[in-house]
Amino acid sequence: MIYLDSAATSFLKPATVRYAVSEAMRTMSSPGRGGYESAMRAADTLLDCRLALADLFCVRDPAHVVFTSSATHGLNIAIRSLVKPGDRVVISGYEHNAVWRPLHGLGADIRVARAPLFQPEDMVQAFRELLPGAKAAVCTQVSNVFGYILPVERIGSLCREQGVPLIVDAAQSAGTVGLDFDALGCAFAAMPGHKGLLGPQGTGVLLCRDEAAAPLFYGGTGSQSQEAFMPEFLPDRLEPGTHNVPGVAGLLAGVKWLQQRSCPAILAHERELLGEFCKRLAGADNVRLFRAEDPQTQAGVVSVQVDGMDCEEAAAKLAERGIAVRAGLHCAPLAHETAGTLSSGTVRFSFSPFNTRREALTAAEALLALA
Ligand code: PLP
Repeated sequence: MIYLDSAATSFLKPATVRYAVSEAMRTMSSPGRGGYESAMRAADTLLDCRLALADLFCVRDPAHVVFTSSATHGLNIAIRSLVKPGDRVVISGYEHNAVWRPLHGLGADIRVARAPLFQPEDMVQAFRELLPGAKAAVCTQVSNVFGYILPVERIGSLCREQGVPLIVDAAQSAGTVGLDFDALGCAFAAMPGHKGLLGPQGTGVLLCRDEAAAPLFYGGTGSQSQEAFMPEFLPDRLEPGTHNVPGVAGLLAGVKWLQQRSCPAILAHERELLGEFCKRLAGADNVRLFRAEDPQTQAGVVSVQVDGMDCEEAAAKLAERGIAVRAGLHCAPLAHETAGTLSSGTVRFSFSPFNTRREALTAAEALLALA
């Protein structure tokens, strides 16, 4: 199989991740629940992972790196911490349902900053117009449908000027496009552990500024157990219940692997594959590629449409040829609405550090054959 669905989950992982998960299951129990060896080993692994993530995302205090079960979990904590029913919230027109649905569920007054694909200047302007009076803003750093890199740094400085707390959805950027959490000054950044950070499914990370973060779940933390309230301090305030220790051990192995290669080198590799893929398809009149004119505004994800062919059918035919891609709306109807692809959806190809040039070209040939 040629796996080109890493935007869903990075199925291709370093061998060290699998090893770390199984070693953790063999040697680690629950952290913070005892001073014996297996508990201490688990506690050390959690701390090492927090330190590695704090280093990767420039978070001054590793206690502000919170483990979650997914990006969705982290986004729900962030949104519930900042938004009350009826509050005005500005979001980009490229948000995932992991942002849109929690805001709807809360009854927020959602204002969508819409701007055409790959036009960062227009997106900044759209946020500038909508931010006055907002209680919070949410922006994805990279669109999961189009690979579009949104100008979060500039949106972050607008938010700071207006005193509006910003939540960054780093689900598609973590591990490739850099994020300097302290410099950006955002309130939260949520990400999965199982995509670009190369950890196992069931892992996620929430970077948070202390004041804003409110618990979503309540329960035991192994600290201040005599109190009826959740501990004030992070990460315990947001991490009740038993940790996913094997998951975090795998995540730590994934992050170490990334740090050895460097995120810019991985982004460059994925962009190169995307470039080869698009070049091979460039002459095909009946294939529509959603490709940025300026390659700096696109990460290693591209959406495609084949004239006269339903996108689900195209993906099914590609699967028959051993090529794994995702078709449809990719849980991001807003992004499709903004780009004008809501009625049809798209076929999405997403590249990973483990894909090769040959795989990218084979996928392009398969698509040409369908078209
Ligand atoms: N946000 C974006 C942009 C995504 O692409 C995804 C997953 O595809 C999510 C949020 C949700 O991530 P998770 O499945 O880890 O909750």
